[in-house]
Order: sequence, then structure tokens, then C-alpha cells
Amino acid sequence: MLTSIVGTNWGDEGKGRMVDLLSADYDIVVRYQGGNNAGHTVVNDKGKFILNLLPSGILRDDAVNVLGPGIVIDLEHLAGEIQRLRDAGIEITPEHLKISDRATICMPYHKLLDCLEEDRLSDKKFGSTRRGISPVYSDKYMKKALRIGDLRHLDTLEQRVADIIEWKNLTVEKGYGHEPVETAEIMAWLRKFGEPVIPYICDTTEFLGKAIKDNKSIIFEAQLGALRDIDFGIYPYTSASTTLAAYAPVGAGIPFAQLDDVIGIMKAYSSCVGEGPFTCELFGPEGDALREAGGEYGAATGRPRRVGGFDVVASRYGSMVQGSTYIALTKLDVLSYMEKIPVCTKYELNGEQIDYFPADIVDLTAAKPVYEYLPGFNCDISSCRKPEDLPKAALDYIRFIEEQVGCPIKYVSVGAERDAYIQMF
Ligand code: GDP
Ligand code: MG
Repeated sequence: MLTSIVGTNWGDEGKGRMVDLLSADYDIVVRYQGGNNAGHTVVNDKGKFILNLLPSGILRDDAVNVLGPGIVIDLEHLAGEIQRLRDAGIEITPEHLKISDRATICMPYHKLLDCLEEDRLSDKKFGSTRRGISPVYSDKYMKKALRIGDLRHLDTLEQRVADIIEWKNLTVEKGYGHEPVETAEIMAWLRKFGEPVIPYICDTTEFLGKAIKDNKSIIFEAQLGALRDIDFGIYPYTSASTTLAAYAPVGAGIPFAQLDDVIGIMKAYSSCVGEGPFTCELFGPEGDALREAGGEYGAATGRPRRVGGFDVVASRYGSMVQGSTYIALTKLDVLSYMEKIPVCTKYELNGEQIDYFPADIVDLTAAKPVYEYLPGFNCDISSCRKPEDLPKAALDYIRFIEEQVGCPIKYVSVGAERDAYIQMF
């Protein structure tokens, strides 16, 4: 069974918690895109964890976890994340963590450039997480990046690093007027944080290819949501990578594999971190109440997230581009306090009501939400575990979303804890 677990919206839909839950039935969990700009919060019997880079299966003793070729890895961050987990009693060994030799290394100068550019942009900033993700993906496509496999050749790497840094300093020093990047410092960083990674390096194509032959089951865990995809998201307010399920086999190292299932993770309302058009945004007391109820503060950055009602237009589009075979609707319990539930069912653009998600950033920015209200359930549903435990208004809300989005809702989550969910069929 090859299953991709992906976000259908702007991110933070609860992908980590669903991977944590569903990984019980899988042998391997692979992260296939992005870097440590993810923030997946997982609450289970071992405690509460925030994972940035490592797959959410790392908290299962018997799951093998893989960082695929599509990932960018800040070695220093990886060392810190592994240490934090070890301090919490999680065992991390080369047997159950494999890092692709083809994955790209996110270097200190990528982070530096990310910060220099966000600072230069000032109030025109894009809302980058400042973790070097766009600069490192740019270098990958410029063919001037280092890969994890290069760590095996640290002794002969210095000249290549020096050549890259000479080119980097054209931007860092001559462009931004910042102190130049020094080759010796970068080499020391590579040794300090790279050498411990060497035992984990793996040819994930061979490893996962064999796993498929052996009928192992694999989860492909996405980071960020469909609307942050570099091609199909709200460009330029996207991430720099492909967040879609269709990329999962490529980013994992097994481009020849075919997914059996795509589980689209969709939140019962909307949230968005950072800048860019967010048509369904709610402001004032209505927005504040929803942000508080949902605890909508970024797991990676602590930034308050922008919030809105469920966005039918965006979610239908997100689910379509992901190719969701079914949906997990998360955080339904958060809506318990509402007398009536706001749902953005259409957008208004140039005086007309539309039900498609505009690709054009100008149109998307100009679009206004058309809100309708559904009856609230107005009671605590966090202990419901079966569909029949849910009040009628909650079931009606689930059915409404299912119909509007056009994809069956298989799971509904009603709390952050592993077992706080309902299987609908
Ligand atoms: P991800 O980036 O998609 O993995 O999502 P995040 O972890 O960034 O954000 C989801 C947040 O909601 C986390 O703090 C979770 O602990 C929490 N969460 C997940 N599912 C539920 C749920 O059903 N109910 C509530 N109240 N919180 C949830
Ligand atoms: Mg998150």
C-alpha cells in the first residue's frame, strides 16, 4: 500500500497528527519535499512533539523513516531536532532513519540570504520562514548546491565549496553589503554537523524500491499544503517546492512507483501563515475567537496564523490538484463554540460570483468571500468516537463539506491526541 498524506489548503491542516495516527499500519514513512520550514505537531502517548524535518513516523518504534531526494536539509537543524527527540527518550538509529544521498544540503548562507532578502523587502516581505528554503532550492536548480552524498567526500570537497562561495559572495558581499561568507567556516560547519549524518546516508531508490518489491507499505508525508505548491499554489506566495501528492514518488526517490491512495488533510476551518491572498480571512472579534479556539499559532515560528471559515472554493481546488481519494477533516471540535458556522461558498470577482480558484494572483487578491452560515452544534464533541456520537448539526456540516468538495470524508478528528478521531466508514 502506497499512501500519500497531503494538505489540501495553506498548510497546518494536521498532517503530522494524521501521519502519527495512520502510520500504525505502515512500515515506512517518507518525507519527500521541503525542509525544516514545516511544523508538524504530534501529541501521543510519548508526549507532545514538534517535528520540522523528520517524518512523523519517527515516533513509532517499528517504522523506518526516510528523508527523500526532494528534501532540503539544514544539517545544524537536523542535529538539534535529533537531539531534542533523544532527550525526550526517542531512539534514532541508522536502522530506522535513512537520509537520501541525493537530498540537498541547506547551508548557513542560504539562511543568511533568506534573512537579508526579507529584511531588504521590509514591508513588502513575502513572509518567509527565514530558514533558507527558497535560496537553497534556487541553488539546486542553478546546479550549485551540495548534496548529502557529498558529505562522504569532505576531504576533497573544499575546492568545490570555495568556488560556490566565491559566487555566493557576489550576492552576499557585493550585493547586500554583508560580511563575506568564509570557506573555512563553512567547511568547519560541514564537518561538525555533516560527519554525524554519514551513517544515516542511504540510496533511497534502492531501499524503497526493494521495500515495494517486498510488499512493504509506505506513507509519503507532505509538508505545507496544496496552495503553497510552487506551480499550483498562490504564486509567488508559495513555498519553493512541489507539495503535491503527484511528486511524492519522485521526491522519495522512487519515480516509478504508483500511489494507491491520497489522503487529503483538510481542516474544518481555514488558517494561513504569512503573506498573500487569503480570501476567506475573518477579522476582528470573529477572527480572534477562532484563532484562540483553534490555537492557531505557527508550530515552526510561533507566528499568529490568519484564520477564516471553511473555504469551499480553495478546498475543492486543493483536493482536486492533490487527487485526494478521500479526506481527513481535522479540528472539528474547534467549532464547538459557534452558534452558527461561517462557510465561504463562493468568491466574488468583478461583480460576479465564481466557484473556481483563480490562478492569477491579481484576481485572487481582488476576490471577496461570499459567506453563508450553517447551524452550529454548540456542544463539546471532543469525546465522540463514532459517527453516531456526533450531534446532527456536526454530521450535517461534515456532509455539506463532503458534497461541496466532492470527495468522501473518511476520518474526522476531534482533538489533538492520537485517538481523538472518528472513522466515518
Ligand atoms: P501540520 O503542519 O499539517 O502537521 O499541522 P500543525 O501541526 O502545524 O497544526 C495542527 C495543530 O492542530 C497542532 O497543534 C495539532 O496538535 C492540533 N490538532 C490536530 N488535530 C486536532 C484536532 O482534531 N483538534 C484540535 N483541537 N487540535 C488538533
Ligand atoms: Mg504545520
